[in-house]
Amino acid sequence: MKAANNNNLCPICETNPALPDHHPFCSARCADVDLGRWLKGNYVIPGDKAEVPESDPDDAF
Ligand SMILES: [Zn+2]
Repeated sequence: MKAANNNNLCPICETNPALPDHHPFCSARCADVDLGRWLKGNYVIPGDKAEVPESDPDDAF
């Protein structure tokens, strides 16, 4: 089966398309975020942006 609704975005991250396995979310993580909000009212979970420190390229030539 094809994923027909690619424009059905996850309401949590609003970035990834919702997957049938986690409908209407894109992942179990977003579903958990929604659950947390629902339980705690206005609970904020830190973003999952993994900021990788940039290593300096070899400028020495
Ligand atoms: Zn999501």
